[in-house]
Amino acid sequence: MKKPFVDAQTLSRIAAQYGTPFHLYDEKGIRENARRLHKAFAWNPGFKEYFAVKATPNPAILQILKEEGCGVDCATYTELLLAEKTGFSGREIMFSSNMTPMRDFELAHRLGATINLDDLTDVEYIQRLPSIPEMVCLRYNPGGNFSISNEIMDTPGEAKYGMTRPQLNIAIEQLLKLGVREFGLHAFLASNTRTNEYYPALAKILFELVRDLQAETGARFTMVNLSGGIGVPYHPGEEPADIMAIGAGVEKVFNEVLVPAGLGHLAVVAELGRFMLAPYGHLIATAIRRKEIHKSYIGLDACAADLMRPAMYGAYHHITIAGKEDAPHDHIYDVVGGLCENNDKFAVNRPLPQIELGDLVVIHDTGAHGFSMGYNYNGKLRSAEVLLRADGSTELIRRAETPEDYFATLLLPQASLRL
Ligand SMILES: *Cc1c(COP(=O)(O)O)cnc(C)c1O
Repeated sequence: MKKPFVDAQTLSRIAAQYGTPFHLYDEKGIRENARRLHKAFAWNPGFKEYFAVKATPNPAILQILKEEGCGVDCATYTELLLAEKTGFSGREIMFSSNMTPMRDFELAHRLGATINLDDLTDVEYIQRLPSIPEMVCLRYNPGGNFSISNEIMDTPGEAKYGMTRPQLNIAIEQLLKLGVREFGLHAFLASNTRTNEYYPALAKILFELVRDLQAETGARFTMVNLSGGIGVPYHPGEEPADIMAIGAGVEKVFNEVLVPAGLGHLAVVAELGRFMLAPYGHLIATAIRRKEIHKSYIGLDACAADLMRPAMYGAYHHITIAGKEDAPHDHIYDVVGGLCENNDKFAVNRPLPQIELGDLVVIHDTGAHGFSMGYNYNGKLRSAEVLLRADGSTELIRRAETPEDYFATLLLPQASLRL
């Protein structure tokens, strides 16, 4: 049984204070999970988690992760600015971008971020920076299919990211000539994987590659970046990944491949997003409309603009009705938003308790890739974000958008802009 991280009474108090819809985050859960991750990789003294900012780009969340020892992984100019404003600098920032404008590289360099090159042609951009970075990370794409125990996990051959094996050698030679002294290696081969085998399988590929590249080029490697990809159980029937087993699995490969090659000093790092935040966020909405036609619909005051994953990926998000957690799930509903798009459905044919107008609807696992994927289609305004502190207090960490925000970028004559 999936239960919300707040009880119904607390939730209705919070909803009364802030008004729905809003994303609610659980500080206690975030901290405990970050501590488990660090425990699982404590065997590697250089371990660092660079939280993927795109998953939950809010300074209050980034600050909590900073206090837990995490850095940040940014992909764009604006994400770098957000990292800077939150107080991250230097090697606390990983810059893993693709199709990167020069301006973005310049800001990453000014902040002292570790730059993760996505392509061979990025080397030209590195040459144009005010100085050559001491350290550069390289992103690898092995092509073909990525399988674990004969099961195809993903298809890197179709992915736009990273460099081929021969391109890695060329990039390293060019970067060595420019004066780069330290190298890292990165790959992201599968997304939302709950198997405990993913990180160890990826680590084996990257560790063996580092061993070979160092032998072939003489480049000094100091870091392997396992990137993101560890999944969470969105569906109540799914098993969570066991982070302790994952850490131990990576350690085993580390001892088998890197230690005998004299590379036992390498730092293993990660860029997890979903695993760090998804379960510790709920989208809280109110049931505002009911409609009976060929099916039974419950309309919420939230829509796909607040959570795009069901519309975009057909993703399952669990739903509980506050205060009716233990009531019989004897009604079948489509739970929908108000966009003029028929994919604006949080749930299709979902067994739920009978829903009354005014009920608080809790949509689970929205802490990562939830608010951040929001958009303004149909003039829908993005929701607020509220942090539930470990001491039980709450804090508004982003206000909801207003029509003024929606109008702010329009270049209409001043008079007609006034609302
Ligand atoms: C999206 C992304 C991540 C985080 O992925 P999750 O699936 O949220 O763990 C990490 N690194 C890069 C380069 C990404 O694009």
